[in-house]
Amino acid sequence: MTSPLGPSTVSCSIDLHAPGKRIGHLRINKITNTAGWASTFIHIGCVVNGSGPTVLVLAGNHGDEYEGQVAAMRLLQELQPDQVTGRVIVIPLLSPGASKANTRNWPSGANFNRAFPGRPDGPPHEQLADYLTRVLFPMADVVIDMHSGGRSAWFLPCSHMHVVDNPVQRKAMLEAMEAWCTDHHYLYIDVNGNGLLPVEAENQGKLVITTELGGGGRTPAPIHKLAWSGLNNVLRHVGVCKGEVQTRASLGLPPAVIIDGRDPRNIVVSPEDGLFEALLEPGERVAAGQPVGRLWFMDRPDRPAELLRSPSDGIVVVTKAIPITEQGDCVFVVGTPIAREALLA
Ligand SMILES: [Zn+2]
Repeated sequence: MTSPLGPSTVSCSIDLHAPGKRIGHLRINKITNTAGWASTFIHIGCVVNGSGPTVLVLAGNHGDEYEGQVAAMRLLQELQPDQVTGRVIVIPLLSPGASKANTRNWPSGANFNRAFPGRPDGPPHEQLADYLTRVLFPMADVVIDMHSGGRSAWFLPCSHMHVVDNPVQRKAMLEAMEAWCTDHHYLYIDVNGNGLLPVEAENQGKLVITTELGGGGRTPAPIHKLAWSGLNNVLRHVGVCKGEVQTRASLGLPPAVIIDGRDPRNIVVSPEDGLFEALLEPGERVAAGQPVGRLWFMDRPDRPAELLRSPSDGIVVVTKAIPITEQGDCVFVVGTPIAREALLA
């Protein structure tokens, strides 16, 4: 690989092209106090059979979002070449140090989902981002990046998407988002910086599918089931796995509710330090001005709780999972239902 940036510093222990199934690792060089010539391993596997799309299945972008990591590891165990038409490449833990530490960010403090496009001469998380940007994304037709609210938030379990400008890409992303068969879908914008993994993949024209599968430091069994069933149905939907594609209708479910989250005013942050008490749950309808939560003051038990009101009519999408709250923490998010036809206009 040649480019003004120079070659990738990341090496891969397995052949990602030959037919069959292999599990190996990516190696990023590191130097520690106990090992001068050491490597960080990022485990990777592939299942290759015949001609068809290449799908990149990614989880653990944020360490404390385990729902997708479990589903991706199960996929690596169970998926066999005779079930595949094309190629499935899986990285179940993109941020293993963060996963082991139960943190969103890498032990260095880096947020991997702000590292793109990355650099081969940057710190380790930027080297890994660069490998995805310049080696793995160009090989892929479809990129799946599974997230949740992590420890800090409960996010209405959903698949979600950016409303990209290209109408063909947008329609494909909408249909693939719907193939997760969640009760809700969410349209998101980037409110805290750039350098997101899905944005880099979108900019390369890929069909990108992302999720927010709950969170809050606990993964109930139905969420594990939803991660697994949705991931497998999406793999069938994009044509890389054999089998019948399910829809909410074929499952006997009502149509999903698509929630528009593109108004940044609907992301509500705390006005001051306190203890957050949620009054509504994600999924509940809310009216403009209605309290979604309230803030209590640890050092002022004589002070009444402050009501935190919804900026608009809609549906609660996120509530803070940890009551202890700092000024400026996101305490809840609401969104507005939108018809799917509005996204195809
Ligand atoms: Zn995340």
